[in-house]
Amino acid sequence: MNLRCSYCQTMFALSRETILAALGQMEVEGLHHYDAHCPRCRRANSMSRDRLEKAYPGWREALKEMQKQAANAEKEQAAAVATVVLSFLPMAFFAWASGAVLKLFT
Ligand SMILES: [Zn+2]
Repeated sequence: MNLRCSYCQTMFALSRETILAALGQMEVEGLHHYDAHCPRCRRANSMSRDRLEKAYPGWREALKEMQKQAANAEKEQAAAVATVVLSFLPMAFFAWASGAVLKLFT
């Protein structure tokens, strides 16, 4: 969406990612306004949540989808690390190490 800075009249755009991140932040923090910073004068232009929501129909679903993907990516990364570790450790050492690791965390 395009905005005009109310201080210096510069036109600038908010990307869909920015809008979605802003809506997510407002949702989490219970805010009703978002400060869009002008690229030229750096001043904050206050935008109502309502306006951002209208600019991104279906944002709630999009946000959920993004969070799901982020969670999956984390899981996949953890699984990949575990696979690498397991494939390089001899079984006996692994048995010993997992016991030692368990002791560290208990
Ligand atoms: Zn400005």
